[in-house]
Amino acid sequence: MPDPNGFLRYDRRLPARRPVPVRISDWREVYPPAGEELIREQATRCMDCGIPFCHDGCPLGNRIPDWNDLVRTGNWDAAVDSLHATNNFPEFTGRLCPAPCEAACVLGLGGQQPVTIKQVEVEIADAAVARDGLRPRPASVSTGRSVAVVGSGPAGLAAAQQLARAGHTVTVYERDDAIGGLLRYGIPDFKLEKQHIDKRLAQLTAEGVRFRTGVEVGVEVTAEQLRAEHDAVLLACGALQGRDTPETPGRALRGVHQAMAHLVAANRVVAAAGEGKPALAMLPDGTPIDAAGKHVVIIGGGDTAADCLGVAHRQGAAGVHQLDLYPQPPSERDAERDPWPTWPWVLRNYPAHEEGGDRVFAVAVQEFVDDGTGQVRAVRIAEVTVEKVDGRRIVTALPGSEREIPADLVLLAIGFEGTEEQPLLAQFGVTRNGRGAIDSGPDWQATEGVFVAGDMHRGASLIVWAIAEGRAAAAAIHTYLGGVGDLPAPVDPARQPLAAR
Ligand SMILES: Cc1cc2nc3c(=O)[nH]c(=O)nc-3n(C[C@H](O)[C@H](O)[C@H](O)COP(=O)(O)OP(=O)(O)OC[C@H]3O[C@@H](n4cnc5c(N)ncnc54)[C@H](O)[C@@H]3O)c2cc1C
Ligand code: SF4
Repeated sequence: MPDPNGFLRYDRRLPARRPVPVRISDWREVYPPAGEELIREQATRCMDCGIPFCHDGCPLGNRIPDWNDLVRTGNWDAAVDSLHATNNFPEFTGRLCPAPCEAACVLGLGGQQPVTIKQVEVEIADAAVARDGLRPRPASVSTGRSVAVVGSGPAGLAAAQQLARAGHTVTVYERDDAIGGLLRYGIPDFKLEKQHIDKRLAQLTAEGVRFRTGVEVGVEVTAEQLRAEHDAVLLACGALQGRDTPETPGRALRGVHQAMAHLVAANRVVAAAGEGKPALAMLPDGTPIDAAGKHVVIIGGGDTAADCLGVAHRQGAAGVHQLDLYPQPPSERDAERDPWPTWPWVLRNYPAHEEGGDRVFAVAVQEFVDDGTGQVRAVRIAEVTVEKVDGRRIVTALPGSEREIPADLVLLAIGFEGTEEQPLLAQFGVTRNGRGAIDSGPDWQATEGVFVAGDMHRGASLIVWAIAEGRAAAAAIHTYLGGVGDLPAPVDPARQPLAAR
C-alpha cells in the first residue's frame, strides 16, 4: 500500500547538478547519479492516486505509480521489470524526456510540486544495467519472417527490439557511420553519454538484430532490393530537414550555419576523443566550425538551441546570445491557457542556461551583417510582436527598435520541416504531406508492406513519442506478418499529446 502522505512529509528534490565551472570543462553528463536514499524518498511522494493522469501524460503509458512504489519499498528487480514492460530504453527517456507525465501529475492540481518521475525512471534504468548488464532476451522460436528497419534512432531501435524478441529476423539500415540517430550525433554527451547507446546495442545484437551502418537506403541499397529481401519494411528516417531563413539578407555569409551542422561536428570530436583520436570540429566539406573564442548567436528557443548553448560554452565561446521570436513565457502554468494536466507554456531553464549566455526574447533577425570580407560580424535584430491570424504567423517589427549584436558564429535552431526529400521516398512510392511528414493508415502502413514511425511520421517530436511509435508500428508489422499473439501498441497513428480541446 503506497504512502498517501509522502508528499506532505517530503518536498520535491533533485540531485545537485555538477558545478558549472567543473562541468563546462568536460563533456560528461550534468547530473551525477542520485543516492538510493533520495530516490526512495522521492518515490514515496507518489500517492498512487485513483486515476493516475501521469499514464496519459506519458505516450508510452509507463506504469509510474507501480514502479514508484516498488522503489519506495526497495524492490528494485520488480521495478526494473515493470519499467521495461512499457519502455525499451528508459535510460534515454530518464535522461532526456521533458516529462509530460510530471505536468500531468495529480500533485500539480493542489499546488504541490509533481513527483520527480523522470529522475526515478533513470535511477531504475541505471539499476537495470548495474544489476544484470541489460541481460539479452532473445526469442525462443524464429518465425522465419524478415523485417528491414531503415533508420536507427529511438523509433527504429524500439521497433527492432520488439520484432526481434517476437522471433522475426531484423536488419537495421543506417546511413551514418554509427547507430543511434539523433541520440548519437545530434544530442551532446553532457545530456546523454554514448556508453548508454552502446550498452543497448550490445543487448540488441545479442537478441539477434543485425546492423548495417554506412548504408543509405535509396542510394546504396534500393527500395526494390529491400522489398525483395524482406517481408516488411519500417521507415524510421526522422525529420531532419532543418528550417532555414534564405530570405534574410546575409544568410549566405561565412559563419552562418544550421545548428545541426555545429552539433554533429562537435559530437564527432567528442566521439573521436573517446577513441583516443584527436579531431577538429568540421563540416563534411572540411570547413571548421567551432565556437572557441567567438561571439556566438543562436537563433531559436528549443532543445536544439539549448544544446548549441552548452556546446558553445564547452568549446570556449567568448560570449553567447540566444534569440527567441516569442516573448518570455511565464514561470508558472497559466491555467486559463493550459489547464492541468496539459503541457504548459512556461519558461524552461535547461542546465545549459545555468552555464551562461544571454537570452533575448521577442526579437527577430533583420540581417546578418557582413564584415566586408563575406564573413558575418553581427546580427541586426528588431523587437517584434507575433500574432496568429487565420492560422498564419504574423511577425511585426517595432519601428526604431533595431540594434546589432556582435556575432562571429550564427547557429540557426529554428526547427525542422519534416523528413528530408531523398531518393528513398519515390522508390517506396511515398510522398511528404504539407508538414513534410509521411502519412500512414491506422495500421502504420504508408504503402503495402511499408510502415512508418517516429519523427518521419509525426514530424520533429520527442524520444518518448519515437519509442512509442516504434513499439506500435512493430505490433502492426507483427500482425501483418501473421505473428502469434499481439505485441503492445501504446499509441495509434492519430494519437496527440493531452490537450484542452
Ligand atoms: C539537437 C536535438 C536535441 C534534442 N533533444 C531532445 C531531448 O532532450 N529530449 C527529447 O525527448 N527529444 C529531443 N530531441 C528530439 C529527438 O531526438 C527526436 O524526436 C528523436 O530522435 C526521433 O527519433 P527517430 O527514430 O524518429 O529519428 P532520428 O533519431 O532522427 O533517426 C533517424 C535516423 O534515420 C537515418 N536515415 C535517414 N534516412 C536514411 C536512409 N535513407 N537510409 C538509412 N538511414 C537513414 C538517419 O541517419 C538517422 O540516424 C532533440 C532533437 C534534436 C535535433
Ligand atoms: S518517458 Fe517521459 S513521459 Fe514517460 S514516464 Fe518517463 S519522463 Fe515521464
